Amino acid sequence: MARPEPERAELLRWMFERLRAEYGVRPLVARRAPMHELISTILSQRTTHADEEAAYQELLTLGDWDTIIEAPTDAVAHAIRRSNYPEQKAPRIQATLRAIREQRGGYDLDFLANLPVKDALKWLTDLPGVGVKTASLVLLFNFSRPVFPVDTHVHRVTTRVGVIPRMGEQAAHRVLLGLLPPDPPLLYELHVNLLRHGQRVCTWTRPKCPVCVLRERCDAFALYGNNVPSFGEQKAGGGRQKANGPAGL
Ligand code: SF4
Repeated sequence: MARPEPERAELLRWMFERLRAEYGVRPLVARRAPMHELISTILSQRTTHADEEAAYQELLTLGDWDTIIEAPTDAVAHAIRRSNYPEQKAPRIQATLRAIREQRGGYDLDFLANLPVKDALKWLTDLPGVGVKTASLVLLFNFSRPVFPVDTHVHRVTTRVGVIPRMGEQAAHRVLLGLLPPDPPLLYELHVNLLRHGQRVCTWTRPKCPVCVLRERCDAFALYGNNVPSFGEQKAGGGRQKANGPAGL
């Protein structure tokens, strides 16, 4: 049975402390300019960080944003070929750039710092290639706004531990944010440390439960011990489902 909300909020706080002890304090400092963050996050979908960065740098060899909008879409797709699904991402990037230029007369996103968070999220997610994860990353990382980006790692770890029931990543944004304080440095540190934990320990297949600092309060570990199944193979109540079924525990 799902934990009551106050218990889930307390569990998240406990996870924050455990992960800080394991991975350290992570100060909130913008890692790159807002437009770089926005376009790179679109490129990052299903792509390693090295390939995402290589695709971004080659995209810039086409010229400035105006030039990229006007370039043949095939040329944009070729430039970003190190990223997965370049044929889908290229027209999205061009459409996103075009929409920003049309609405703002340029590519300066600093106005997002002063919009109410709800309006800033809406403005970004109304762009053609931008979902709630990308919008949240830009708002938190670049403008220290109190939102919580949920990527595949954050989603998997929080679901397995039992902070959230099985749900999609989109819904998880809203639910997890509702459990967290509006504290950007905390939100940032929890995001990056959950991501790191998901990459290193609570992996999609064969999570390394024996060395996990979260295992004493983890629902999946309580249910399966050291044999927690692949994320897509697990469902609430301990049964199994097909790997390509709905989002698993
Ligand atoms: S105990 Fe296992 S399933 Fe639970 S968070 Fe840690 S690695 Fe993931």
